[in-house]
Amino acid sequence: MRGRTGPAGRSSRTASSWLDSPTGRRPGSPCNDRASSKASYRFELSTPAAYTAVANGSLVGKHTGSSRTVWVYEQAEPMSTYLATVQIGRYRASRLEGASVPMTVHAPARLRAGVDLALARQGEMLQTFASLFGPYPFPAYTVVVTDDVLEIPLESQTLSTFGANHLRTDWQSQRLIAHELAHQWFGNALTAGEWRDIWLHEGFACYSEWLWSEWSGGRPAQRHADEHWRRLSALPQDLILADPSRARMFDDRVYKRGALLLHALRLRLGDALFFDVLRTWVDAHRYGTVSTAAFTEHVSAAADAAGVGVRQLLQAWLFSPQLPELPRAVTGA
Ligand SMILES: [Zn+2]
Repeated sequence: MRGRTGPAGRSSRTASSWLDSPTGRRPGSPCNDRASSKASYRFELSTPAAYTAVANGSLVGKHTGSSRTVWVYEQAEPMSTYLATVQIGRYRASRLEGASVPMTVHAPARLRAGVDLALARQGEMLQTFASLFGPYPFPAYTVVVTDDVLEIPLESQTLSTFGANHLRTDWQSQRLIAHELAHQWFGNALTAGEWRDIWLHEGFACYSEWLWSEWSGGRPAQRHADEHWRRLSALPQDLILADPSRARMFDDRVYKRGALLLHALRLRLGDALFFDVLRTWVDAHRYGTVSTAAFTEHVSAAADAAGVGVRQLLQAWLFSPQLPELPRAVTGA
């Protein structure tokens, strides 16, 4: 794997600076491992001929010799180092239809039937998110399904990896398929420059699950919100969403409280303004890095212009350990 990254810099961590990628998410190449250091990438991978190599971006070259194949991928849009990935296996490629961008699945042949069932609505999912968040931010979307079981799926830029155990049609699997897809907007195209702002990835991806549920004819987001608000209200109130601490950055409360914050904003702003705010947020920061302060300012400016107050709401959800109440829906929204 070859990658171009930003200028190498000394790693520094202070009380107000939380920049280095979490241990365990590091790519296997020398790099300036900060989410804010985005770059384009080119991968050249040589495998035995029976194997397929998949990496971020688009396949721009494939050369098959007598016993080996060289795969060349280019990731043109800027990418954070932690989102780089290489997957190699005995995969069979298939195309999924129904979206405005090409969608490819690489999976072991034995899992073909499961792929067809579990990913049947992924195109519809992508189009739904594009209508809510703005155009899908990359030229294509790829899914890799591993032959073995994975505890959790994982998002990478332009590519998500699922385990064989995730190929199901129940809500627990479908919500993960929606979650990883939504990270292409929230986390990959727009990346938090500091890890304390991880809710800008996970809260949005979690809320996208609820939006897919609602838009696909399942339970409305309000019911997911009510259920998770009740769950969170019974847990310790000791987590600050906008600064959960390094040890708790993947605490489930970051995911759910982040999603609840977005639902609270939707209730306060009404659907038209809420989704307009999301689309302008993505449009303003696509391929860049973002922060809680920038999001707060973006939403507040739009809400102020519409004569709706959200600053206290944002302050309470982001910076108070106590779980705020969900607001009532605006009438007529
Ligand atoms: Zn996630």
